[in-house]
Amino acid sequence: MSKKIIVPQEFKGLVDELLQINTDYSEAFLRQSHELHKYREKHPTKMLVFKCADGRIVFSRFCKTKVGYLRNFRNIGGKFNMGWLTFEKGFREIVEANHYCGCGGCLAIITYHYSKGDSLRGCAGYKFDKKKSIEGAIGFRGQMEKAYKGLPFQLYPIVIGIETDEEALILHNNHGVKVYLSKMPSNITEEEMHAYLVNFFSDMPEQMRYDLLPMLMGNIQHIAEIREENRPIVELNHKEWILGVGGGCAFDFLHVPNAALIAGQYNPSLEKVIRQAFGVINDHWHEGKKFLTLSAVSYGLGIHEPQVKMVVNYYDRKIWETGEEFYPHLLPHMYQVRGLVDIETQKMKIIGGQRMRST
Ligand SMILES: [Zn+2]
Repeated sequence: MSKKIIVPQEFKGLVDELLQINTDYSEAFLRQSHELHKYREKHPTKMLVFKCADGRIVFSRFCKTKVGYLRNFRNIGGKFNMGWLTFEKGFREIVEANHYCGCGGCLAIITYHYSKGDSLRGCAGYKFDKKKSIEGAIGFRGQMEKAYKGLPFQLYPIVIGIETDEEALILHNNHGVKVYLSKMPSNITEEEMHAYLVNFFSDMPEQMRYDLLPMLMGNIQHIAEIREENRPIVELNHKEWILGVGGGCAFDFLHVPNAALIAGQYNPSLEKVIRQAFGVINDHWHEGKKFLTLSAVSYGLGIHEPQVKMVVNYYDRKIWETGEEFYPHLLPHMYQVRGLVDIETQKMKIIGGQRMRST
């Protein structure tokens, strides 16, 4: 911590745990950075993952990808819209930068999630309506396709479903066909999977198929491990204890199951997504439960600290105002943390903490 923050005793354990998660991630990130660099030389496709802010959706774990490999976009329900100005700008910058550096194309993986065992373990952001969440993902893919049609950038959007009981992927191709990885043989070889993909994603650029392949093989292995573990169902319920607001890659370190619920920064109606996140916390709140809110933005590589501090402060204020208006009974049980994450090390420093405010 760069600034000494006195955390009230009842929240100290949570703040320490948050910092520990960040330290672990940052160390793993730095440890693997050379390996990741080598991996990217072989698999240059930029993997952009659009997913729900639900704390259980840890896509990197489901696919056994290297730390820092995926570029994640998180929002409640996995809802995005190409018409959101800030989002459109941020997304365009990534696609164009990738194009002009000659790094290869971008594969946009647009996800939705559900549970096969109980619809109430599905997506709260879509009020547990699986059909609507699939329609939302397909609709966003269509928008992306239209927005980039005829442009020189190599961008290929696909929809992938996540069945959270087994953390198994469902691939959708762009001709309305889907395939469940949970139904594929667990001993499928890379060659067999590749042959399958050539047919399934027939118009996907070859390099992208090649780069997607290890992620799918990772999921096949992951499904087998989940089945082997036979884990108790309680793990699958909402237990998040962090409500996060912010974005960029500031929350990449927070991919720990059931830890954080992230309200993305991209929706122009920030209050709406914060309110939705509070709603999920509220639905699963019980007497004695404490939670943190975390406003975080990344800095470094040309993004200056004093500027993003203002953004973090603004998010923090919005959290308070929204909580006060819609969920005032939760306020005594939450502690607001403000953090900045160094893009190059993924290390977070806390720049402020606050419990109750005088209004
Ligand atoms: Zn969800």
